[in-house]
Formats: sequence, C-alpha cells, structure tokens
Amino acid sequence: MDAADIGMDLEKVLISEDELQAKISELAARIDADYAGEKLLIVGVLKGAVMVMADLARALRTPLEMDWMAVSSYGAGTKSSGVVRVMKDLDTDIAGRHVLVVEDIIDSGLTLSWLVHNLESRNPASVGICALLRKPDALKVDLDVKYVGFDIPNEFVIGYGLDYAERYRNLPFIGTLAPHVYGGAKS
Ligand code: 5GP
Ligand code: MG
Ligand code: MG
Repeated sequence: MDAADIGMDLEKVLISEDELQAKISELAARIDADYAGEKLLIVGVLKGAVMVMADLARALRTPLEMDWMAVSSYGAGTKSSGVVRVMKDLDTDIAGRHVLVVEDIIDSGLTLSWLVHNLESRNPASVGICALLRKPDALKVDLDVKYVGFDIPNEFVIGYGLDYAERYRNLPFIGTLAPHVYGGAKS
C-alpha cells in the first residue's frame, strides 16, 4: 500500500515503510546489546504500539515475553491530561523483571510518565522505554527515553498503528493527514 491508495486523505508520507523497518532493526540491535544475557518483558501500549511491537519483537534476539496495557487519558480536549485510567492491565507480575515499554509516539509525555511511575511501583528490576516517534514537547518532561526511532515535527501523524478516529492504523508508513480530513487546524 502506498500514498496513492488513501488518495486525497493523505498530505504526505513522513516516514516510509523501508525507513521504518531499517530503524526497527537498528533499535533491536541496540536493545539486544544492552540486555545481553537478560530476559525481557516487552510491554506494548494498546492500540498504537501494535505495529512497532510486532516488528520489534521479530527483530529482537533477546529472549522475551510480550504483554500489553491499554490506558486512556481522560479529560476534555485533544491533549492528554496526565490523568490516566487503566483499561487493561498487564497479565504478568513484573516484580524482578526487566521491562521495556514500547510506545508508538510521545507527545506531551504525560501518559508515559504516569505509566512508568505505575510500573516502577511494582518493583521490576528495570523499566526502559522505547518509542518509535517523539514530538518536540516530549523533551520538556523528565522522562528517560533510551530508545527513540524518530524525532518528528509537531504535526498530527497517522499510520503504522497510529489512528485518526480509529482509521489509518493499518498503513505501513507514517504520514500526515490532509487538513480537510480533520477540519483544517494543525494539532
Ligand atoms: P502524550 O501523553 O505523550 O501527550 O500522548 C501520547 C498519546 O497520544 C499517544 O500514545 C497517541 O495515542 C496520542 N498521540 C499523540 N500524538 C499523536 C499523533 O500525532 N497522531 C496520533 N494518531 N496520535 C497521537
Ligand atoms: Mg500510544
Ligand atoms: Mg489515537
């Protein structure tokens, strides 16, 4: 599938399928080196992280288990409030485990800050963060994101797990939406 298949809804392709896959391989190699001799629990944050989890898990050589959490920021508006509700918790007891949280994108960083504190309270051996995308605001929060795929401009992106009103998650690349789709204003 390429840009032409979603036609006028797409403004541009920001990161191609090849670029995504190359970056995932690079991140996996770094993670494998850092966790050599350990076992990992990778935790995907639903739903956005499904694609990066699936590809990263297949690229990693470190022995691993996969688990999932679903969280939602509640509060009005399109920006996350930092008040987070757990919709689906882990199935795994993470005490003593090396946990790597896998996220699609960090914008304000509020969701992830909350999540990291929540996980740390369960006494894991470590909590690391891998985010495919990071927006400029994320640099304002005190969050040690060891593995970042791409720093991107402050634009609303879709594809490769990321949605607009639940659509476009299945695109194999990251793109931006044409303004007519979301009513004209930039995010
Ligand atoms: P934060 O708490 O870091 O502001 O919010 C992170 C969450 O907001 C992401 O996991 C994602 O669900 C959503 N989000 C932030 N920026 C974008 C974006 O550009 N596109 C999409 N589709 N979702 C985004
Ligand atoms: Mg997410
Ligand atoms: Mg969303």
